[in-house]
Amino acid sequence: MLIDKDEPICCYFENLSRFDGEILHFVSTRRFLKDQQFSISFNGSLSKDRVRVNRKVLFSKFGLDVSSSVFTTQVHGNKVERISIKEKGRGVNEVLKTCLGSDGMITQHQEICLVIQMADCVPLLFFDPIKKVIATAHAGWRGTVMKIGAKVIEEFRNVYDSDPADILAGIGPSIGPCCYEVGNEVISKVEEAFRDTKGILLNHPKFSRPVFDLWEANRRILIEKGINPRNIEMANLCTRCHSDMFFSARAGDEGRFGSFIMLK
Ligand SMILES: [Zn+2]
Repeated sequence: MLIDKDEPICCYFENLSRFDGEILHFVSTRRFLKDQQFSISFNGSLSKDRVRVNRKVLFSKFGLDVSSSVFTTQVHGNKVERISIKEKGRGVNEVLKTCLGSDGMITQHQEICLVIQMADCVPLLFFDPIKKVIATAHAGWRGTVMKIGAKVIEEFRNVYDSDPADILAGIGPSIGPCCYEVGNEVISKVEEAFRDTKGILLNHPKFSRPVFDLWEANRRILIEKGINPRNIEMANLCTRCHSDMFFSARAGDEGRFGSFIMLK
């Protein structure tokens, strides 16, 4: 990932950055000037006004109006919503009961920024430069074992006639195998979901129980669906290890950073 030191500090995937003329994408951090609590989520302890200001500041960095985005209520499922113009602006000013309850979004409409909020869960970003379609997904352990990444690729194929081999994907900052010790519930779901858990459930000297490598699990899900491994970029940035840069639920943070993607 590329890190841009202009405030507020953001990161970018190198593979998606090659298409800067066609898409805008970025991953925010918790840092803005002296503020280490630069959260974009209404669910933490920051006031709603402060969160609205943070969102506005972040979008203005890219010359965008925050009302051009869509925030969903993420529910740790594997539903992927097709986003049309009428969804534009949903969830921007507050968490609405009418917000889409989904963890994946896909669109071929321009000027709608798809937003995922996280603090350890994996953000997945997608772009098909041939069909001009973008998508994003929120994959915590539940979304990962429910293979939301595979659902996204199925939407690309079924709705937009994409060839998976054309699709670029980014696996963003999230809790890494260095820090993600898991218990029996997660282990048994991982074993159900993956035929081969070698390289996904690992032993780690720091922990007595196995760790779950969400990055590798999501990478395999995408490859199994036909994405070229060369088109997948892993941020390899652990939110727990880099909790100065990113919010981490395991580090006790309530705030959320975000991943953003929009067709220009
Ligand atoms: Zn770590």
